[in-house]
Amino acid sequence: MTTSTDGSLPHTATEAHIELTEAYAAHNYHPLRVVLESGEGAWVTDVEGRRYLDCLAGYSALNFGHSHPRLVKRAQEQLGRLTLTSRAFYHDQLGPFARDLARLTGKEMILPMNSGAEAVETAIKVARKWGYLVKGVPENQATIVAMEGNFHGRTTTIVSFSTDPVATAHYAPYTPGFRLVPYGDIAALEAAIDDSTVAVLLEPIQGEGGVVIPPDGYLQQVRTLCNATRVLMMADEIQSGLARTGRTFACDHEQVVPDVYILGKALGGGVLPVSAITADGDVLEVITPGSHGSTFGGNPLAAAIGREVVAMLNTGEFQERAETLGRRLADGLGGLVGHGVTEVRARGLWAGVDIDPELSTGRDVCERLLDHGVLAKEAHGQTVRLAPPLVASEDDVDLLVEAFRQVCSG
Ligand SMILES: *Cc1c(COP(=O)(O)O)cnc(C)c1O
Repeated sequence: MTTSTDGSLPHTATEAHIELTEAYAAHNYHPLRVVLESGEGAWVTDVEGRRYLDCLAGYSALNFGHSHPRLVKRAQEQLGRLTLTSRAFYHDQLGPFARDLARLTGKEMILPMNSGAEAVETAIKVARKWGYLVKGVPENQATIVAMEGNFHGRTTTIVSFSTDPVATAHYAPYTPGFRLVPYGDIAALEAAIDDSTVAVLLEPIQGEGGVVIPPDGYLQQVRTLCNATRVLMMADEIQSGLARTGRTFACDHEQVVPDVYILGKALGGGVLPVSAITADGDVLEVITPGSHGSTFGGNPLAAAIGREVVAMLNTGEFQERAETLGRRLADGLGGLVGHGVTEVRARGLWAGVDIDPELSTGRDVCERLLDHGVLAKEAHGQTVRLAPPLVASEDDVDLLVEAFRQVCSG
């Protein structure tokens, strides 16, 4: 217990930290009332010493868990050596990282950035420029087709094609050049593509939308349509990629290879923001010196960690864990349908659980999960998204299912 300076009632360390944060940090989030202090693997500890199973995992930025020894070791080595050069000079970390990430994605080149939104912006710029210089779309006419219910980040251009009113309200004027179609509807997509279309931008699974999985065969149909119309297929795998779904990429479930992979989140190993797009030379060569850039993109520390992440993914162990644990999670959650849960959508260690509106809201379930030592976050009103770190144990998954069962039955 700490005593407030104004002599009012003593309050807990948790309350004190929340008050301070709310007083000085803008309210762009509505966090659960828990103040975290340390983390290891799938578990975190709060300032009162209570432990929680982290089932959000930084929106999948923490696929490898908190403080993974391999990533911490690599970060510490690089911290003592060289962290930032800018791209005005070469450094010894970018080449190896770029080669290894390009190979992981089966592409020829990468373009490194920092946040996920920046990688999406980069993909949009590359697609438009490719459209004008390679496809021959008349200047200023390029259109990109995106999906209803999408989440691609928070920049002014990206929110211009969001269908979430909370994300878009009062940020106008919006960037033109985007068309929206219902997710999973191939006929609508076909109808939206014309000679001005340069790209289709989609999440192979809509994460923020509530872990929405498109109909079987949809990604293949998109691939075929993009080939036929000479349109770039751009897969935003920022949340779905890097082992989360049991494969390296969510597109792998349909043996689909997009023209552009958009990566972020887990690419930085939960240590720092690292994002990139990867594509073949015939697409990425439209980028010339000075036409795009970032002070921090591809910096030595980011490249060192990104390369370590790629090396960890190359072992296949995390993909395998996601699949095995995911089956256990889906089986466990499946048993709750009809008992406070209306639907479960799962792929790998990633699940969207729809809460029966008669029972409560997603937010309410997350608040009650907190009391059971489980951290989770609602995706949309009625959906709780579960994405524990892939280093979680079988027991952790069982604990999560049991906590969910108790919350839903009471
Ligand atoms: C999180 C996310 C982004 C944005 O990434 P930031 O690092 O928050 O800018 C973009 N697309 C998808 C699919 C995401 O999940």
